[in-house]
Amino acid sequence: MPRHLSFRTLKLKWLWALVALLLVVALASGGICVARALSDETPAASAPDAAPATAAPPVPSASPTANALPTKSAIAPDFSLPPIEDGMVPVLTKIPTAQKVVFLTIDDGGAKLPEDVALLRANKIKASLFLAKMFIANDPDYFKQFLTDGSKIENHTMSHQLNFIKLGYQEQKNEICKMADFEEQTYGRRPVFFRPPGGPYTNAIRKAAAECGMKAIVTWEAKANAGRVDYQVGQALRPGDIVLMHFRPEFAQDFQAFLDAKNAAGLEVVLLEDFLKVP
Ligand SMILES: [Zn+2]
Repeated sequence: MPRHLSFRTLKLKWLWALVALLLVVALASGGICVARALSDETPAASAPDAAPATAAPPVPSASPTANALPTKSAIAPDFSLPPIEDGMVPVLTKIPTAQKVVFLTIDDGGAKLPEDVALLRANKIKASLFLAKMFIANDPDYFKQFLTDGSKIENHTMSHQLNFIKLGYQEQKNEICKMADFEEQTYGRRPVFFRPPGGPYTNAIRKAAAECGMKAIVTWEAKANAGRVDYQVGQALRPGDIVLMHFRPEFAQDFQAFLDAKNAAGLEVVLLEDFLKVP
């Protein structure tokens, strides 16, 4: 009985040993297969796939310049231009938006420096140019250079009268309509935005602008001037701010002050017309 038992035990031991051996062999060969599969496939699969697979993750996180590209494509305009109501265009001083964007506008057109074109181009910045005929009449073609880089030309009256608000309605309308006609003939696009000289406006001016085909009066929230940025509210640029600059001899310093301010605020410059989807 004990012998029989021990024989059975022995037999079982051998059986277990055999099972264990088979398991080990099976696992080892399987492991080898998995290991071979991994070692074969990773390089093989990574060869065609590796370029996008390994290159893609570091690109957005590695360099700050590359980071700007996904951000740019991620901007989704969340504000639409209000319609003309009671015959009057809406007034935009800043854009109510959650997007980290800021808008650059450049006025008048007095100084026409070649390096100013290069500055915007080098920084890939598009701006809305509010030009007045009295400043640009001697060389309207200068501003075509900005158009080829994507900027837009808008309306800032014929003669830039600083008492514009006090002029009669017909005179105000002439100042706006004639400039819109001139810009349409000269640059091939009728302006859609109007900025009164000095900034002040009345309901009559809003109406005159609408009758000339304008879609909005655009004022500003911050100003790049004398090499620094002045804010109407707070001490920094905020999302949606419209910034005013001028074509002046100190353009480069003002532009740099604007760039520093928008970088400090983590904002991206977007063309107002693009954001509002106006042609
Ligand atoms: Zn002006």
